Amino acid sequence: MMVSRKSLYLIEDDADIRRLVCEVLEGYGYAVTAFGSGRDARQAIQRDPPDLCIVDLGLPDMDGLTLVRELWEDVRFGVIILSGRAGVSDRVLGLELGADDYIVKPFEPRELVARVNTVIRRREQLVVSAASGPSARARFAEWTFDLGNLTLTATDGRQESLTAAEANLLVALLRAPKRVLSREQLQGPDTDRDDFPYDRSIDVRISRIRKKIEGDSKPRLIKTVYGAGYLFTADVSWG
Ligand code: CA
Repeated sequence: MMVSRKSLYLIEDDADIRRLVCEVLEGYGYAVTAFGSGRDARQAIQRDPPDLCIVDLGLPDMDGLTLVRELWEDVRFGVIILSGRAGVSDRVLGLELGADDYIVKPFEPRELVARVNTVIRRREQLVVSAASGPSARARFAEWTFDLGNLTLTATDGRQESLTAAEANLLVALLRAPKRVLSREQLQGPDTDRDDFPYDRSIDVRISRIRKKIEGDSKPRLIKTVYGAGYLFTADVSWG
């Protein structure tokens, strides 16, 4: 059970799914506000951003992917995508856009609850790490990563922000530089999914992190070790 009421926005045009999702998540102590259109949700998000948004990709008034992309311009809340389309490319696209997770309809309410709990917990862990003083910042290459706001700042002032899932992955690499970490080690203990191989979501997130810290050049900070996992090559200092 959740200890505090987290605010969740559900953006879904199907009234039956809205009712079901609200009911089950409220049963777990979440405060859920439901929206039937992207436009209504967008206004509410601008006024009062939630802790997590659950977004249906097939909305009547806009493409859910467009909405997610917009949401990600300057937000710090979690995003879980709901989709009726089970294609792998959609899932990868959702993760590439920065969604924390992706769930395909029809889904078991308990599965949705598990995913929501995971995203919320990951974000809380980051807040706790950030609050624990000396390890709130990591420096490597030309970057400083601030766990408090999930933002990378380069020495030239350029900034990049990470999703909570990406931040967790980067932190795992930064805590064990110059060691090969397997995808299992990077994934952490709290995800158990049989519908989407974990290694693929790790790979998508690694490629997003690389784009931010290495641009389009050949990876030198995060190296792929074939058959083994990933290796962070730079020195890291915390504090
Ligand atoms: Ca829909």
